[in-house]
Formats: sequence, C-alpha cells, structure tokens
Amino acid sequence: MLTQTEENYLKALLHLTSDGNEQEVTGTNQLAKYLNVRPASANDMLKKLKDKLLIEQVRYGKISLTDVGRTRALLIIRKHRIWETFLHDILKFEDDEVHEIAEQLEHIKSDKLIDRLDAFLNFPKVDPHGAEIPGS
Ligand SMILES: [Zn+2]
Repeated sequence: MLTQTEENYLKALLHLTSDGNEQEVTGTNQLAKYLNVRPASANDMLKKLKDKLLIEQVRYGKISLTDVGRTRALLIIRKHRIWETFLHDILKFEDDEVHEIAEQLEHIKSDKLIDRLDAFLNFPKVDPHGAEIPGS
C-alpha cells in the first residue's frame, strides 16, 4: 500500500519523464524543485520508492520509473481524471475547480469505486481539460 506522498512522487516522476522523450529525471534536485520540497526529503522518499521496486536509480543518480512504478502512476492519473470528469459533468463544478478536488479524491484506494464511477460516466476517454484518461 502506498502513502499519499509516495503516490504524488510517482505522479511527479511520470510527469517529468513524459515531457519529450526523456525517460529519466536528472537527479534528486530536479524532482525536489518540481515538488517544492527539500532535496533531503526527496532523497528519503526516493529510497522508499526504490525499496518498493517502483523506481530505479541508474547512471549518475538519474531516476526512472520501473514498469510497476509506471503502472501505479498511470492508475493515479486515471483516478484523477475520472474524478475530474465526475465533478465537472455530474456535480457541475467549474473547469478551474475540479483539479484541486481531484488531487484529494485520486488517493482513495478502492478500485471497485473507480470502476463503478467509470461505468457510471459511460467510460469517458478524455477528462474535462481534454487530457486522455489512461485505461484500467
Ligand atoms: Zn487535474
């Protein structure tokens, strides 16, 4: 089971390694800066993620997600975007309101809940911002 912080690190790593073709983050500092945390905190968390086999630190301290880590990160993005769709389409929240609420809801663990929500929404392909929802 991952903590909310661990999930946010995976999401950040997925984001930082999806821009362009970079498959690796250049070290702890880049990640710490992105997450607005101290490099020492980022380092501690990276050790935990490495122990759980979710990331690899390859040459020169570069960080990449393992396949498992990448899958976990995509699942969090999937939940986030399904919640945004629900908040926007069903509960009628504004475009600029949904992200912050989805940041909290994405950490709910129940897969059954997200699958039923997905079905309730008739399996949306994109979120309210037009971003693709990763498949289950
Ligand atoms: Zn969002």
